[in-house]
Amino acid sequence: MNIHEHQAKALLKEFGAPVAQGLAIFDPGEAMAAATALPGPVYVVKSQIHAGGRGKGRFKELGDSAEGGVRLARSVDEVVAHAKDMLGNTLVTKQTGPAGKQVNRLYIEDGADIARELYLSILVDRENGRVSFVVSTEGGMDIEGVAAQTPEKIHTVAIEPETGVTPENASALCDALELQREAREDGMHLFPILYNAFVGKDMSLLEVNPLVVLGDGHLAVLDAKVSFDNNALFRHPDMEALRDLTEEDEKEIEASKHDLAYIALDGSIGCMVNGAGLAMATMDIIKLYGEKPANFLDVGGGATVEKVTAAFKIITSDPSVKGILVNIFGGIMRCDVIAQGVLQAVEEIGLNVPLVVRLEGTKVTEGQALIDNSDLNVISASDLDDAAQKIVAAIRGN
Ligand code: GDP
Ligand code: MG
Repeated sequence: MNIHEHQAKALLKEFGAPVAQGLAIFDPGEAMAAATALPGPVYVVKSQIHAGGRGKGRFKELGDSAEGGVRLARSVDEVVAHAKDMLGNTLVTKQTGPAGKQVNRLYIEDGADIARELYLSILVDRENGRVSFVVSTEGGMDIEGVAAQTPEKIHTVAIEPETGVTPENASALCDALELQREAREDGMHLFPILYNAFVGKDMSLLEVNPLVVLGDGHLAVLDAKVSFDNNALFRHPDMEALRDLTEEDEKEIEASKHDLAYIALDGSIGCMVNGAGLAMATMDIIKLYGEKPANFLDVGGGATVEKVTAAFKIITSDPSVKGILVNIFGGIMRCDVIAQGVLQAVEEIGLNVPLVVRLEGTKVTEGQALIDNSDLNVISASDLDDAAQKIVAAIRGN
């Protein structure tokens, strides 16, 4: 689960991180009061969407010459003008995809006088099995470019779980970020604070880009992105309360109600598979034969007819789905249960696109018989390769 920048900053502030004053607003009518409550005279008006790259993003409705999703304002009036311009419009950034995201809230923040923009993130590093800091002196709006072109400017510091951030770790981070004087002192305090927030709230990612050195030499958190580990969310009901459903895909929300591992993608072939590995392999093979998957879906080992029906409904509710591939290896999962779920779903909602089914394993004969005896127009496949070729051919009308 992700949260908005202003929520992430409020959280980091509770842990003691240096964050500017700011207020979130949902309506242009609130802009004047929010800006007036801040010290000024420079303000920043920041689009709150669950995607980065807002500064360089563009509003669909305003054209390329208009300013992006993060704007400086030099007066209260300018804050109000930006708020009217931005709220309700669709921001397209490198991370939103071409459809963009509607901006439903803004964060009005006191403007910072920036001397240097640095990059800092904390993540679970699977290579070294540690929570690690990733830092670079080249922070700001193009960290992806830095990683691609000058990877030597990115430094990783792994943290031992028994000790947390040691003074040696903090010092190494200060060196990597070339922090001096006040900024170095601030860093020695800030790095353990950020680590404690990460571990204490079961985050999977904490990204501060940029972390800035201010004109007065001190450090400040200028942008903050936080993702939580969903498997630990039950331990943090206060964080769960920050969930903004308007930022999430409707199909993914529906899937989470049924405890289905579903991720919407931008291709045309809907997939229903059991097992994450088989689901990934199915996506790969669809790509191999020249099409793209519309989703990742693992219905899990113990799926019931109801769960399979729900999954099928979610897949068919996606208008970009031009064909469906059901690929089940019945180990714990029974092929007849899958077949019943598919039939029940089709009975309830109809089927307007080609459907290829590949069943193998436990109760495969029963499952196959159920499908063969229905009057469904299903294409049977013998193996994974055959299934992928058949669904690709079917949606291409061959
Ligand atoms: P992102 O584009 O979504 O990552 O949004 P950020 O919050 O990182 O803001 C983008 C850029 O706007 C930053 O890298 C800064 O250059 C600039 N910016 C943001 N806040 C301020 C501020 O308070 N003062 C100044 N001068 N620039 C800011
Ligand atoms: Mg940023």
